[in-house]
Amino acid sequence: MTNAPVTPKIVEPTLFDLSSPGRIGVTFPKPDVPLADLPTDLLREDLPLPELAEVDVVRHYMHLSKFNYSVDSGFYPLGSCTMKYNPKINEDTCRLPGFLFTHPLQPIETVQGNLALMYQMQEWLKEISGFAGITLQPAAGAHGEFTGVLMMRAYHKARGDHKRTKMLIPDAAHGTNPASVGMLGMSVVTIPSDARGNVDLEKLKAACDDTVVGMMLTNPNTLGLFDEHIEEVIKLVKDCGGLMYGDGANLNALLGIVRPGDLGFDLMHFNLHKTFAVPHGGGGPGSGPVGVSQRLLDFLPEPLVGILEEGDGDELAPLFGFVSPPRTIGRMKAFHGHFGGGLVRAYTYIAMHGPDGLKDIAQYAVLNANYLLARLRDTYKVPFDRICMHEFVAEGRFEGSDVRALDIAKRLMDYDFHPPTNYFPLIVHEALMIEPTETENKDTLDAFADALIKIAEEAKSQPELLHEAPHITPFGRMDEVKAARELVLCCWLPENYSE
Ligand SMILES: *Cc1c(COP(=O)(O)O)cnc(C)c1O
Repeated sequence: MTNAPVTPKIVEPTLFDLSSPGRIGVTFPKPDVPLADLPTDLLREDLPLPELAEVDVVRHYMHLSKFNYSVDSGFYPLGSCTMKYNPKINEDTCRLPGFLFTHPLQPIETVQGNLALMYQMQEWLKEISGFAGITLQPAAGAHGEFTGVLMMRAYHKARGDHKRTKMLIPDAAHGTNPASVGMLGMSVVTIPSDARGNVDLEKLKAACDDTVVGMMLTNPNTLGLFDEHIEEVIKLVKDCGGLMYGDGANLNALLGIVRPGDLGFDLMHFNLHKTFAVPHGGGGPGSGPVGVSQRLLDFLPEPLVGILEEGDGDELAPLFGFVSPPRTIGRMKAFHGHFGGGLVRAYTYIAMHGPDGLKDIAQYAVLNANYLLARLRDTYKVPFDRICMHEFVAEGRFEGSDVRALDIAKRLMDYDFHPPTNYFPLIVHEALMIEPTETENKDTLDAFADALIKIAEEAKSQPELLHEAPHITPFGRMDEVKAARELVLCCWLPENYSE
């Protein structure tokens, strides 16, 4: 198979191309203080920056922004990423001056509102997940995993158990799981999935011994399947002295229905930027709080937000401040996690929905995924085909055709849809992992299913149309290997630039 030409259809001018000597973007007011000379030894001879009016700069960036696909411009079924619509009220609340213009080093008496929000967030996440304690510090899911694995190690060490060096991870896992474990020098034992997409119990049994730190499990897993033997899986791991880590990236399927803490998980990270509608994928900071069970409470990172002095439930408000767990693993992040961009937005989202609303989210997410699965399973092979949770994985290939998942993904862009995740999870050939989320209506789901069915017909009648897709985007098919190996992040360098 040959790739279509790599040449972009259009070449975008940079701000430097648009520059014209003497144009200025800002006019300063006349100074109302005496002029002073600048220290000449610090000044450069010249500063080769583009010279433009404000309107030119705004138009340039506005124009570039239209090349981007976003959840605000169309359907974004990127599996495992939960690209749900991010309600705009979250943007209002996180920009309230009391949240926006505070400094993390301010005396606690002056930021009681912020601390109250963080405390409430800890309480809500406990209630949602069934865990006993929460740290809000980690900056994203992967950072939450790293934090969690540090706590698992500290727990075993504190018991004087130094043999444990192995982490059990299913073959369906996200790559961040083994990466987090590898960063701590532990080894990974891969546990295969069985024919129904569950953890293979026999293989798990064989791997469980007294060198196991624990298991990291995503449930529902990245096939979008709820493990049918989840209680046995957890029991096996615990019986050999291991701890059970939940990768909470797929929590959207469980909200208000199942609590991982009740199932017996010892700890789990949340991805507030997935489940709780904080913008992500270039749109904002992540946030990966971690919940822990009773036996890990003492190891949580410091500081946590606590109540320093009780209120009287009436006139006298409680005093919120910072507390340290007795055997803390230490600080995981500068200051207190992504407060405004992450926590305030997620807080707003949870407050807006309430318990019943959160349950609706999970039920509609699962309903939407099953609707798409029902519409597509006759056209695309679904290797683990049973009732799915919030997402499912189909094969992007057809018998007797050289069309691949990548071609289908690129062709979807011509129909104005963001492609699903492809080539993950690794256990499905030519994987197309589709997660519609609860925020899409039936018309959108139908239009997407129609497009995928049409593309399957095109794969038979005009495969070159797929091989050369996308056709309508500003840039055509990229050479992905070249793009990764010869990454160019800066498209302009000043003429006199030297390394
Ligand atoms: C997104 C994701 C992660 C990693 O989370 P980040 O917030 O991107 O660091 C881990 N596991 C699964 C299953 C995921 O989907």
